[in-house]
Amino acid sequence: MKWLLAELYLSKAQSAFKFYKMIQTDIAIIGAGPCGLFTVFEAGLLKLRCHLIDSLGQAGGQLTEIYPKKPIYDIPGFPSILAGDLVDNLMEQIKPFNPGFTLGERAEKVEKIGEKMYRITTSGGTQVEAPVICIAGGLGCFEPRKPPIPNLENYEANGGIAYVIRDPEVYRDKRVVLAGGGDSALDWTIFSADIAKEVSLVHRRTSFRGALDSVEKVHELAAANKVRLITDAQVVGLAGSTDGLEEVVIKHKTEGEYKLATDHFIPLFGLSPKLGPIADWGLTINKSAIEVDTRDYSTGVPGIYAIGDINTYPGKLKLILCGFHEGTIAVQSAFQYIYPDKKLSFKYTTVNGVEGLPAAEPSTATI
Ligand SMILES: Cc1cc2nc3c(=O)[nH]c(=O)nc-3n(C[C@H](O)[C@H](O)[C@H](O)COP(=O)(O)OP(=O)(O)OC[C@H]3O[C@@H](n4cnc5c(N)ncnc54)[C@H](O)[C@@H]3O)c2cc1C
Repeated sequence: MKWLLAELYLSKAQSAFKFYKMIQTDIAIIGAGPCGLFTVFEAGLLKLRCHLIDSLGQAGGQLTEIYPKKPIYDIPGFPSILAGDLVDNLMEQIKPFNPGFTLGERAEKVEKIGEKMYRITTSGGTQVEAPVICIAGGLGCFEPRKPPIPNLENYEANGGIAYVIRDPEVYRDKRVVLAGGGDSALDWTIFSADIAKEVSLVHRRTSFRGALDSVEKVHELAAANKVRLITDAQVVGLAGSTDGLEEVVIKHKTEGEYKLATDHFIPLFGLSPKLGPIADWGLTINKSAIEVDTRDYSTGVPGIYAIGDINTYPGKLKLILCGFHEGTIAVQSAFQYIYPDKKLSFKYTTVNGVEGLPAAEPSTATI
């Protein structure tokens, strides 16, 4: 495969990997969750290069976004492993194959541009061209749950409202109102107390869902007047100008409505997955999942495969290990699709090793 690398930029978070605006690769993988990541490894063994696209700002899919600190007990060979550590291990495992990443951009459009060539265009304008697409989109794109406030969009572009904190420095010496009762709201309240001029946390109940030590810390900060804790209340309105937000309207259970001056409102009510644009790519969708042929996890559209939580077939289990298997089988089929005249000879990694990794010393039997 020839590589067209038009523009290169490095991200702080993923500086070990290269990012491009126009990319040609062998397999474009939509979704950098565990199944997409492991597919890079299996493709790499066949000398197929991969480029991953994910709408989230980091790799790992549900494991990073929903439960990084939870132990997983059904990954073969690991009696227990934290979800975040599994993602770190997968990233380490695929390093020798130097995959490309486009993170923080959603794959929006898929076009057929040649006999065996697709072009994917992302929300950020990046174009990825490849003969094979492997959709590893999990439950779909994670989108923030937005509060039912009428004029939210007036403050989305000017930074008055944000649903995820990408750069905490934005809030240095500013007045910030956060909302939510989970770990994310608690953690960012604690973090913001150190950098923002004024921090308020609004929650509609008096009890929080987050980790006990975070709840205790927020109460300590409130007692020390470093955080204004407003419970039994909700933000119900926003006011400001085109330049930005100026105040939020708070509705308290017993005290009624009042205004609170602020520069930023950050509702952290979690993320919900939506199938999104994948539903419009002409694939057979059954209950928000892509139907596949279990012989190779192909979708019925030549060159397009679907693996992991995004696919469905009789007996499907939404488990990481099943997605690993599906990715492994799919890339074997992808190889034959790209190179129909080449014979694919199956080799164990114990026999062939992995390019870029030192071969293990052969074991010697002691009798
Ligand atoms: C709380 C919890 C606990 C779990 N525990 C276990 C367990 O113990 N064992 C187990 O095996 N499984 C467990 N699971 C399930 C497991 O997390 C999933 O099976 C696994 O994450 C599926 O991996 P994936 O790579 O298919 O998809 P995901 O992890 O969902 O990743 C898909 C990625 O695709 C991206 N994406 C989707 N659409 C697009 C698009 N159009 N453009 C760009 N990016 C896109 C998403 O942003 C996401 O990052 C658990 C799940 C949850 C929620």
